[in-house]
Amino acid sequence: MSFLHINNVHKRFGETHVLKGIDIAIEQGDFLVLVGPSGCGKSTLLNMIAGLDSISEGELLLDGRCINDVHPSRRDIAMVFQSYALYPSMTVAGNIGFGLEMRKVPRKQRREAIDRVAKLLQIENLLDRKPGQLSGGQRQRVAMGRALVRDPQLFLFDEPLSNLDAKLRVDMRTEIKQLHQRLGTTIVYVTHDQIEAMTLASRIAVMRGGELQQLGTPQAVYDDPNNLFVAGFMGSPS
Ligand code: ADP
Ligand code: MG
Repeated sequence: MSFLHINNVHKRFGETHVLKGIDIAIEQGDFLVLVGPSGCGKSTLLNMIAGLDSISEGELLLDGRCINDVHPSRRDIAMVFQSYALYPSMTVAGNIGFGLEMRKVPRKQRREAIDRVAKLLQIENLLDRKPGQLSGGQRQRVAMGRALVRDPQLFLFDEPLSNLDAKLRVDMRTEIKQLHQRLGTTIVYVTHDQIEAMTLASRIAVMRGGELQQLGTPQAVYDDPNNLFVAGFMGSPS
């Protein structure tokens, strides 16, 4: 039994058939990267896993249990978006701890969790600042902190680095990789950057037009593409 089984999942927005039967089995500790051209359905798939979009057909099984109808707040899944969506009037500590506060975690425990995550992300010295006083990279770290502090079973990242400049993107990529190795969490990560996919993924899922084209290790997808689309998209040598 897989940790998360995306079982023949379809999504329709009215007449538009956006996801056409996606099948992916994700194992605990996997770093699955979804790639594909803009509009192919990557964000829609992540939103469905998070519970932010309903499922038209098929099912999501988490540890063998169907979660199609489980409310997002009960999924034990944290999502990091491309736009950081921090609360501008709250401090960094407030932003990181907000989810815990909502869950009525006592102040002392909250503080400990915030400190632990801040140390991990090396933002201890920023805890009293407001988001407006932070750089893009620092904001992205706070957004990650907000996800990490909940210690979720599963992390979803939707193009978390695409608003950052090139140098920072490489640094953050390294940090995310180290974080995954250190914590051993399960991650589903969307990017349209092939290099990012190749360096981060334990497995890559290549999508096109709402369909899965190939699922495999970075090496397999790059060296042994299923078709010309995958070869072209991954920049495989011909
Ligand atoms: P990606 O993240 O791969 O760029 P998306 O999942 O955002 O793609 O979008 C996939 C397709 O679904 C696009 O054609 C988009 O226009 C459509 N779509 C996404 N959200 C909605 C919505 N709420 N209503 C109608 N169409 C949508
Ligand atoms: Mg998207």
